[in-house]
Amino acid sequence: MNIRRRLVLAALAGLLLAYFAFDLGRFLSLDYFKGQQEAIEAWRVAQPLKAALAFFVAYVLVTGLSLPGAAVMTLVGGAAFGLLWGLLLVSFASSLGATLAFLASRFLLRDWVQKRFGERLRAINAGIEKDGGFYLFTLRLVPVFPFFVINLLMGLTPIRTRTFYWVSQLGMLAGTLVYVNAGTQLAKIDSLSGILSPGLLGSFALLGVFPLIAKKIVDTLAARKVYAVWQKPTRFDRNLVVIGAGSAGLVTAYIAAAVKAKVTLVEKHKLGGDCLNTGCVPSKALIRSAKLLSHVQRSPEFGIRDARAEFDFAEVMERVQRIIKTVEPHDSVERYTGLGVEVIEGSARIVSPWEVEVVRNSGESERLSTRSIVIATGGRPFVPPLPGLDEVGFLTSDTVWDLRELPKRLLVLGGGPIGCELTQAFARFGSQVTQVQQAPRIMVREDPEVSEMVIQRFRAEGITVLVSHQAMAFVVEGGEKILIAEDRSEEPAREVRIAFDALLVAVGRVANLHGYGLEDLGIAATRTVETNEFLQTRYPNIYAAGDVAGPFQFTHTAAHQAWYAAVNALFDPFRKFRADYSVIPWSTFVEPEVARVGINESEARERNIPYEVTVYGLDDLDRAIADGEAHGFIKVLTVPGKDRILGVTIVGEHGGDLIAEYVLAMRHGIGLNKILGTIHIYPTLAEANKYVAGNWKKAHAPQKLLEWVARFHAWRRG
Ligand SMILES: Cc1cc2nc3c(=O)[nH]c(=O)nc-3n(C[C@H](O)[C@H](O)[C@H](O)COP(=O)(O)OP(=O)(O)OC[C@H]3O[C@@H](n4cnc5c(N)ncnc54)[C@H](O)[C@@H]3O)c2cc1C
Repeated sequence: MNIRRRLVLAALAGLLLAYFAFDLGRFLSLDYFKGQQEAIEAWRVAQPLKAALAFFVAYVLVTGLSLPGAAVMTLVGGAAFGLLWGLLLVSFASSLGATLAFLASRFLLRDWVQKRFGERLRAINAGIEKDGGFYLFTLRLVPVFPFFVINLLMGLTPIRTRTFYWVSQLGMLAGTLVYVNAGTQLAKIDSLSGILSPGLLGSFALLGVFPLIAKKIVDTLAARKVYAVWQKPTRFDRNLVVIGAGSAGLVTAYIAAAVKAKVTLVEKHKLGGDCLNTGCVPSKALIRSAKLLSHVQRSPEFGIRDARAEFDFAEVMERVQRIIKTVEPHDSVERYTGLGVEVIEGSARIVSPWEVEVVRNSGESERLSTRSIVIATGGRPFVPPLPGLDEVGFLTSDTVWDLRELPKRLLVLGGGPIGCELTQAFARFGSQVTQVQQAPRIMVREDPEVSEMVIQRFRAEGITVLVSHQAMAFVVEGGEKILIAEDRSEEPAREVRIAFDALLVAVGRVANLHGYGLEDLGIAATRTVETNEFLQTRYPNIYAAGDVAGPFQFTHTAAHQAWYAAVNALFDPFRKFRADYSVIPWSTFVEPEVARVGINESEARERNIPYEVTVYGLDDLDRAIADGEAHGFIKVLTVPGKDRILGVTIVGEHGGDLIAEYVLAMRHGIGLNKILGTIHIYPTLAEANKYVAGNWKKAHAPQKLLEWVARFHAWRRG
């Protein structure tokens, strides 16, 4: 705590101490005032200005210091100054005092509270930033919420001081009026509780609910305004039209059909979207074959002197296609039709908030009317506008699956998950791979030692990884394709020329935002379609889910959002749910596999979240040793002094599977103690989860108690 804070704290503590030491509370009781009423009245008549000022200052002090007595002072205000002047004085003094208490709480405690509980307060902070005035107004209107508690708590939130002041003054007006008015009858009042009859409390409660109702009305009016220029059909043919049959669209349609809604799913290319056709499924199939080859190459490590693999890359790629074909029935027209979804193969365009025009692949077009729409149009690889790119030609994650000949020298642009997975896979088939990454390390979302471990492995497998290299242009010289890049790892930057046979561009993905009506409807979409926490666009009946909505680009997050989009689209205004992103896991399927849930150290530091780290090295694990995979680690971040998990990173064999235990634990508030107390099968990789919990426990063993236990055993030995 800095010196200024200490001084303020000391001053406040001194004042409070004086209040209690001199028993000043006795002057703030109803009985005391009733006894002094005549004297006060005489003083007010003799020196009205001085009396008003003294009352004002005393009121500000009592409320500013959060002392009990504000209610009594309000009554005195009414008794001494009458309804109008009493109301004026109390209204300003209470708002000023409240603001001082609010500022004191903010100055002394906000940073500490936000640092300590920032992660848990994130949703509250966001809500206060957006609707803080409304919440405060509601709290102020209902005098059952203690005045001083609201001041102190609000000081801990991001609400602006100005907003706090004027909303407080406005919100407290009704309550102040009631109390001041009661004060004018002070002689007849015996206790504070008598002022607020059940009937009056009920009226206040109604007043408190009023802002919420008002907000609902404002929202409805805003929505009406958005719809005003459109002609709403009198009835709808469908409950829901889903545009795009990737992970998000398929799950949305599935849920809608499961709850017996009439739903139409429109897909212009292939059902299954990216994940099935060009993403997760083919990449994991390719990685599997590459991993087999890497094991063959490592055969001496396993006691097999001479294992050899003969392969044709074209056959590997045909296997990838066979895998897609095998999974395809899960996402097929037949399956979804059987589930009760109407599937249309064609291109969709939103033409009004309730109408979607579909041009079928056969050429026919039709207009579908629907109560709600879910946009699930996904994304595509981002191709940077680099000079010479078109001349050298390039592959992306969309087209790489058409390759049947292994490139001799492959240049991979990009060090994210897709770039890394494909880099290692192609290198294992025998391509000479150079990976060029603009940032100072690959897999930048993960902690630096994770990137380092993957880079070490890549280099050990013969991959050239160039970090801090900025691609500038491509040229063809003497029939050879060349990347001109800048090595920015040192000052001044140095030009580097890298020759290659094939180029894979994997520098990120962008959402599909054009060509299906967003512009015509004025639906905001800069990087992704803008939605609120219910996944609604500016038209409350049009939703977005999956890669097109962001912020994540995973199949499982697309499916997760799909549930919210489907349920909200079908059941709003009766019931709707905020998309919950509190526990999001992911994995990058390189070797060693990198998996994560929650925050890592870099994020904890960035967001000022206090944490403790517990690490377990997989080189110690029996099963990993037996499997020849004794490398990597599990790193768990916990709340200091507690076993509550903030985040986990696993680098190692099957990290993506092992992380599931922590995903469940975090989702359901299970701590490391419970993981430690759970039986894990021996010998499995999953045992590592128990051992890391054991490491945490050891670090938190009650040393003093153990010393006594040692003495107890010594005593028992005699
Ligand atoms: C190489 C690679 C590997 C990946 N690996 C993983 C992984 O291991 N794990 C993971 O979780 N994620 C992975 N992903 C990401 C994952 O594939 C995506 O996050 C997921 O597919 C997003 O699903 P979606 O439904 O939002 O979009 P998409 O799957 O892109 O589906 C959108 C669909 O909408 C259709 N569409 C667009 N416009 C229209 C229109 N106007 N009318 C009709 N249809 C339209 C498109 O044709 C497309 O089929 C990977 C991605 C890639 C590229």
